[in-house]
Amino acid sequence: MSTTCLFCRIASGEISAALVAERESCLAFRDIAPQAPVHVLIIPRTHASSLNDSSANPVLADLLALARDVALQEGIAESGYRVVVNTNDDGGQSVAHLHLHVLGGRALRWPPG
Ligand code: 5GP
Ligand code: ZN
Repeated sequence: MSTTCLFCRIASGEISAALVAERESCLAFRDIAPQAPVHVLIIPRTHASSLNDSSANPVLADLLALARDVALQEGIAESGYRVVVNTNDDGGQSVAHLHLHVLGGRALRWPPG
């Protein structure tokens, strides 16, 4: 774990977050600045800086499965939702700890900006 990484600090409980679901390898919590009625972040407990970081390979399926479970739990599975992984500068990544956004509860535009 990196002591300077914001999401590592959330994973360790050092910084609080509104927890939505937990698994052995990953956890889900509400985004502090929601962009949709449902906006949940899914992170691996172990630090990986982005999707480019292959150290996260063993947990990628867990992350996606938790995104699906959160969509069901939040009641947006049927209406629809989007899973986004912003990666590096052009992707708009602002926190350097791999995370999936689960967005839903309204019609989302396409293409994104
Ligand atoms: P990114 O821009 O890297 O794809 O997404 C980072 C997300 O983390 C943003 O949507 C931002 O609102 C969220 N975020 C940043 N700081 C915090 C925080 O301290 N707590 C929570 N729950 N979300 C945060
Ligand atoms: Zn981290």
